[in-house]
Amino acid sequence: MSAAPLSSIHRDALREQFREYGEPAYRADQLHKWLHQKHVGDWGAMTNLAKPLREKLAAEYTFSTVELAKLQGSGDTTRKFLWRLRDGQLVESVLIPANPALYGEASDRHTLCVSTQVGCAYGCKFCASGLDGFKRNLEPAEIIDQVLAVERWNKEQGGAGERLVNNLVIMGMGEPLANYDKLLAALDILNAGWATNIGARKITISTSGLVPEIKRLAAQPRQYRLAISLHGATDEVREHIMPINRKYPLAQLANAAEEYQYAKKGMITLEYILIAGLNDGLDQTPPLAQLARRLRAKVNLIPYNSVDGLEWERPSESAQDAFCAALQNEGATVTLRREKGHDIDAACGQLRLRTERELAES
Ligand code: SAH
Ligand code: SF4
Repeated sequence: MSAAPLSSIHRDALREQFREYGEPAYRADQLHKWLHQKHVGDWGAMTNLAKPLREKLAAEYTFSTVELAKLQGSGDTTRKFLWRLRDGQLVESVLIPANPALYGEASDRHTLCVSTQVGCAYGCKFCASGLDGFKRNLEPAEIIDQVLAVERWNKEQGGAGERLVNNLVIMGMGEPLANYDKLLAALDILNAGWATNIGARKITISTSGLVPEIKRLAAQPRQYRLAISLHGATDEVREHIMPINRKYPLAQLANAAEEYQYAKKGMITLEYILIAGLNDGLDQTPPLAQLARRLRAKVNLIPYNSVDGLEWERPSESAQDAFCAALQNEGATVTLRREKGHDIDAACGQLRLRTERELAES
């Protein structure tokens, strides 16, 4: 049995554990500060905790559940982290610098995209994450540790300031809302003032459209932002590329999104990947603009990132611009993101897929 992961332990539980050790509660709070705010790399750096106490803790808890397996990207560009989990599975996070107010607010400096599952069961036709099917849900600590490990990496690079990541997008590998309870447990800690302290409005959860869980998320108290992977504005087009649309067709999805909008007051983004010949027809723009207006949502157009083994391609830049302009004419708020990560497999699931294939071949 491996030891319990440290990062997902709640303040109250750690205080209780410290009481059993005969230590005062504030020592537990010091530990949380070292881990979540000062981003120390090991037990030894927690200098105000006595060595025998640190040894007891080290026997009880796993310091980190993720280990860096590969890092791609350099300078001030998008960087991709591939993590090895304790059972050998691989997941990835993507760090995007100075993203001008895509999901959060204008002060946004660094956005980190984290994974919630190993693989994905939803099988969208264009996506690398679903290609090898679903392996397992991530534990809360495995979600939290992606953030902490990036912060530690930044600190080791001599990064200035208390923290690097001030915006979190739950858009890496997996369907976040299919791992609802563990995701929300992780976000609770990433959001808590005594822990990582990332504001709820700086956290965006992306979903392919799990209607019951969108409603659950609307009913819980935190003000997380919601991104919906739409990728088609009619059932015919959406169903063709996203199997989930057969279970929850657009009318149901729109109603759940409206419930979310009503509860959280305008926190929705509609994600729309542009794939040549599949969903870039101008027949899609009237229903897409109509939905965006109804939900007071912003549309995020993303030119498709090609994936090894899949034949889809992005439309030409002029076709992208035409789609964008048509939406604007129909009264939608739109951004067209010619993203920075195209050259480093920045769409979710791609680095893992490539690495697993390389490992299989070697
Ligand atoms: N499962 C969730 C979150 C992870 S996918 C969801 O589907 O929303 C995060 C986003 O990346 C989704 O909008 C997804 O459709 C998009 N995506 C997947 N593959 C892509 C690719 N090859 N190019 C561009 N975006 C892609
Ligand atoms: Fe899963 Fe999202 Fe990829 Fe669809 S787009 S296969 S839901 S990760």
